[in-house]
Amino acid sequence: MNESCIFCKIIRGEIPSTRVYEDEHTLAFLDIGPLVKGHTLVIPKQHFDSLRDADPEAAAQVMVTAQKIARAQLNGLGADGVNIHQANGRVAGQVVPHLHVHVVPRFKDDGYHWNWKAGKYAGADESNGMAEKIRQGLKQTA
Ligand code: 5GP
Ligand code: ZN
Repeated sequence: MNESCIFCKIIRGEIPSTRVYEDEHTLAFLDIGPLVKGHTLVIPKQHFDSLRDADPEAAAQVMVTAQKIARAQLNGLGADGVNIHQANGRVAGQVVPHLHVHVVPRFKDDGYHWNWKAGKYAGADESNGMAEKIRQGLKQTA
């Protein structure tokens, strides 16, 4: 738990939230500013700033709950699809530094769009170089 963290305060009940599900390790509640109505946040009850420092087990528990919520949005809201968003670090758009997964129900004509601008590698040298750097990075992770 982190004293000043807004999501830890939600877990402790010090800030009101609209809870939809919780278990021993995770909590799911409505995002206060929904991209689409029903937009739900899933968080671990233990504080981790982001995916970077989360226990793999906690990350897995959060994803299992995100799947439950996605299925519940499809079944309960009659959603036609679901987006999962997850931001790590300010540059990636993370505003609240407590690991969280956005589960966003999608409906035909819901008016929600984001700019997915596909880039391009200059060639195989560049793409192989990127893959090699990621493989090297794997050696630095636990
Ligand atoms: P991020 O940009 O960090 O991925 O997303 C943070 C999310 O938390 C935002 O979508 C924002 O609307 C939501 N949020 C911020 N403060 C609160 C709050 O006090 N209560 C709830 N329910 N959601 C919040
Ligand atoms: Zn926290």
